[in-house]
Amino acid sequence: MKQEKIVIIGAGIGGLGTACLLAKQGYEVVLIEKNEKLGGRANIFKEKDFIFDMGPSWYLMPDVFEHFFSLLGENIEDHLNLIKLSPSYRVFFPGDKDFPMIDIYSDLSKDLETFEKLEKGSAEKMKKYLKQSGEQYNLAKRQFMYRNYNSVFDFLQKDFMKEGLKMNPFQTMENYLNKWFKDDRLKKILEYTLVFLGSAPNKTPALYNMMNFIDFDMGVYYPEGGIYKIIEALEHIARKHGVKIHTNTPVEEIVVENKKAIGVRLEDGSIIESNYVISNADMHFTETKLLKEAKYRTFPQKYWDKAVMGPSAFILYLGLNGKVDTLTHHNLRFSVNWKENFKEVFDNPKFPEDPSYYVCCPTKTDKTIAPDGKDLLFVLVPVASGLEFTDEQRTEYRNKIIAMMKEDLNIPNLEEMIEYESMYAHQEFTKDYNAFQGTALGLSHTLKQTLLRPTNKSKKISNLLYVGAGTNPGIGMPICLISSELAYKRVVGIKHPRPLTSLDDV
Ligand SMILES: Cc1cc2nc3c(=O)[nH]c(=O)nc-3n(C[C@H](O)[C@H](O)[C@H](O)COP(=O)(O)OP(=O)(O)OC[C@H]3O[C@@H](n4cnc5c(N)ncnc54)[C@H](O)[C@@H]3O)c2cc1C
Repeated sequence: MKQEKIVIIGAGIGGLGTACLLAKQGYEVVLIEKNEKLGGRANIFKEKDFIFDMGPSWYLMPDVFEHFFSLLGENIEDHLNLIKLSPSYRVFFPGDKDFPMIDIYSDLSKDLETFEKLEKGSAEKMKKYLKQSGEQYNLAKRQFMYRNYNSVFDFLQKDFMKEGLKMNPFQTMENYLNKWFKDDRLKKILEYTLVFLGSAPNKTPALYNMMNFIDFDMGVYYPEGGIYKIIEALEHIARKHGVKIHTNTPVEEIVVENKKAIGVRLEDGSIIESNYVISNADMHFTETKLLKEAKYRTFPQKYWDKAVMGPSAFILYLGLNGKVDTLTHHNLRFSVNWKENFKEVFDNPKFPEDPSYYVCCPTKTDKTIAPDGKDLLFVLVPVASGLEFTDEQRTEYRNKIIAMMKEDLNIPNLEEMIEYESMYAHQEFTKDYNAFQGTALGLSHTLKQTLLRPTNKSKKISNLLYVGAGTNPGIGMPICLISSELAYKRVVGIKHPRPLTSLDDV
């Protein structure tokens, strides 16, 4: 056992991942979670024999998960039964007479045929586009995603600039795609993945075109039993390596003496001492609430007043007494007023009039999460963070979305089929995860907040680190596991920018 003791605040996927890496390498790790269950936003609940994944549902970047498990000396297949979805997802274009519905297979022979039907000549362009997007993804993995940043000067190094400029950082995805394609439906399909990054096509740097390679080339997977199986696997590994886990234990304060964190204070006043504190709680909460003295804050409230927060989500969990024929596992309904919808989510916050929304029907793949003959739906509408609304307004919006689903997705008897239902939105994100403005995702991936994303090391307290969606590289489960690797590198003192080949890498 190493002499150093590490306290990790929060058992989201980033906190859990960091705990596993450090404990496997012999550190004494204490993981402290405010909620009853581990997993943070990747959580779960069961009602009336329906098992709902509460947050993430897209298992993307399987290479990153596999790499992470192999660092822990684990074979991912021993933990997860991964199913490749086919189709990967279905897109609904309401009102489009020619293409009311399109399936994307992550199988180029099929997808190029679809693209060619949407825009003549686009199949060839798409091949080139994806080749380039794949090269950028591999470059990002080799050079950028697994790199710890210290300051803006890191970006000014010659080698870094040369490689970085290949990633198209200074034009927006909207402009970039306009140069490649003309058909609006095709562009919408390629743009929508940016919502996963909490951003909009006119605000996101074109380097994220690599998301299209991830989706079209690598495919979309699903772990049998649900996304929460990932959390259970990590919890199992953490316990195996001796991580001490406390649940229902909110941390009240990061205790600092002479610019060093000496541990954390809990609600009952007790202090758990440590050599390092790593916070997986949202960065805003860590900085403005857990650090009591303003002089220790690297990102004080004035930083957050100007920050662009990723959207919140208006979520419906529905257990149905029957099956829905028109859906596949992942379903996206695209707004007719595409740009207006993004404005309502990012620029002029209000409940979208004609929203794009997402419906997950995991029972299309998995029989273990609902009783026989019944479908389970997770409905997510991206909405601006920071909105406030009453219970009546929520119910009104729920009615609107259900009415839209009946028509757009052709489920006329949806209302009558609902056997269980609940809602989740801003106030729940704030209550459950201390989320600033009720954001679902955290800091958006705008250009500025990609290049100058808060680094994972406090500038004021030498042994305080951050992990999770708020720091580098950013939002999404696999990305948070990369942030765990970055926190690990900080603790053990590894400086190179590449993915680790093993935990003994130097
Ligand atoms: C609705 C939704 C859908 C999503 N869909 C996808 C998807 O399909 N695919 C994908 O890859 N990603 C998706 N994401 C994003 C992904 O879920 C997140 O980026 C990721 O789970 C965040 O992990 P994290 O490590 O930042 O920690 P979080 O999950 O944010 O967890 C932080 C933890 O800290 C705890 N905490 C906070 N304050 C304290 C305190 N004072 N003391 C102790 N503990 C504290 C919280 O309770 C929480 O458990 C989705 C997110 C949401 C919300």
